[in-house]
Amino acid sequence: MEEYLTDKYVKRCPYCGGTEIIEAFQSYYGAVVSPKNKLGGTELYHSVCRNCGSVLRSYVKDPEKLLKKKDRKKSDY
Ligand SMILES: [Zn+2]
Repeated sequence: MEEYLTDKYVKRCPYCGGTEIIEAFQSYYGAVVSPKNKLGGTELYHSVCRNCGSVLRSYVKDPEKLLKKKDRKKSDY
């Protein structure tokens, strides 16, 4: 069986008790953009309970991308 547990922070759905968490992301139109860096932005990811469909956590994979290049901790982007 395929492993659906992809979110290390969310192990169990608090609504239905389901333990299969699907990682999904909302691209482009759902991008998260910082007011400080309107040209940047990154996809918004969601951890969705496979059983009841609740979105358990929303996050961006690379918060540094919300900052301007000069403000980033790593400059290798
Ligand atoms: Zn659930």
